Amino acid sequence: MGLKLFNTLSRSIQEFTPLDPAGKKVGMYCCGPTVYDFAHIGNWRTFVFGDLVRRHLEFKGYAVTHVMNITDVEDKIIKHVRETKTSLREFTGKYEAAFFEDLKTLNCRLPHHTPHATEHIAEIISLIEKLIARGIAYQAADGSVYFSIEKYRGCGCTYGQLLKLNFDELRTGERVKSDEYAKESVADFALWKARVPEDGDVFWPGPWGEGRPGWHIECSAMSTKILGPSFDLHLGGEDLIFPHHEDEIAQSEGATGKHFVKYWLHGAHLLVEGKKMSKSLGNFFTLRDLLAKGFIGREIRYLLLTAHYRETFNFTLEGLQGAHAALARIDECLGKLREAAGAPASGPARTVGVQASACSGDTLKRELQPAGSETGAPTDLPARFTDALDDDLNISAAWGTVFEWVREINRQLAENSLSTAEATAALTAWDKIDSVLGIGAPDEIEVPAGLAALLEARQAARKAKDFKRADAIRDELKAKGWVIEDTHKGPKLKKI
Ligand SMILES: [Zn+2]
Repeated sequence: MGLKLFNTLSRSIQEFTPLDPAGKKVGMYCCGPTVYDFAHIGNWRTFVFGDLVRRHLEFKGYAVTHVMNITDVEDKIIKHVRETKTSLREFTGKYEAAFFEDLKTLNCRLPHHTPHATEHIAEIISLIEKLIARGIAYQAADGSVYFSIEKYRGCGCTYGQLLKLNFDELRTGERVKSDEYAKESVADFALWKARVPEDGDVFWPGPWGEGRPGWHIECSAMSTKILGPSFDLHLGGEDLIFPHHEDEIAQSEGATGKHFVKYWLHGAHLLVEGKKMSKSLGNFFTLRDLLAKGFIGREIRYLLLTAHYRETFNFTLEGLQGAHAALARIDECLGKLREAAGAPASGPARTVGVQASACSGDTLKRELQPAGSETGAPTDLPARFTDALDDDLNISAAWGTVFEWVREINRQLAENSLSTAEATAALTAWDKIDSVLGIGAPDEIEVPAGLAALLEARQAARKAKDFKRADAIRDELKAKGWVIEDTHKGPKLKKI
């Protein structure tokens, strides 16, 4: 079975076939963060979903070029820059650095390209010039340049490819300048926003006077520059379908005349404790908020990866406790397997080549499944796991294969029926699938920055013979779920 994905464009599950005639290269664009705040757990669900898509494609042998833009100029950013009286770069730089730290905490593979909107003003201008030359963009009396929906549709193009729009009920000829608007306000949208006093120092010279780009054109300019006018996959949260992605299609296809993206994948919303996240309800969590509660990246990643990407997911703190227990079960099994294989109990299993040499699922399965292995055998985990993920990334079924495998290994270990070679082969099988799951080995757990600082403070207190303070810090760490262990390299934190 080959990989099948739900394509928002066709509203159906389709076989994945890359545009590359050799069937090897895949271009993938994920809308990245708007760097005006720390990314929240809903944002992280989308980014971890993007990471899963990329890891699974790489696992299947595709050569993926993963692009994730950094939106470092748009309406919300300008508002915050004005309010905080900082420079654009100073303001966005802080949140961008935090984003990359968080990406690492969640063990997401770093995209191959992370282009910044502010570094692509020339490409953005050139794209707008193309749209003007083709008669589907125009400068209005306010000095801003808009995309004309009427002219675009007049050329035989479809506006509303991802979302069906009823143009009989929509008023055409109106204009919208803000980056975000609802589908009830379908209107000509801004490509270049003429400079206004509220923009402060955020403006660039352009052929239509000083101004700044609209948010939607940024993604069209950066994606087509790096991946070409047509590419395979475009991902984002479902909240981006309209207007952002619809506008991206219109701008890109309007300028190039070519089909923009073959497969559009959208991740569903996330609820927290059963409700839409909101600061006033107290259920709004950034990744950092969860780390400060003593949870670790590995647990958060696991929990975000338990639900199918097209289902609304209810993220709860209880779920995170469950993630801790589930990972402990896997870790315990792996620890025993390592002992049976004669490997050091605490070390991660040897990493083996995880990328198959061919793209065909069948070829891959043959490579992963040794001749003569039976269904249910410890080494056929990668094949069963791949089958589950090939079915529109059916992660629940994929976890099902993992826990079935854990049960089977535990049974064989208890019976002492696993040879050293079989234990080694089972560990190799685990390594292969963990290249997709990315939950890592327990000794790769990173300690949250806030807790590491507490550990240092405890050491300083002990050195100063302030044992009362040292004990108080130890208790605080314990309350957060960590104990201090003395090792030959000094004290270390260990998750309870
Ligand atoms: Zn985008």
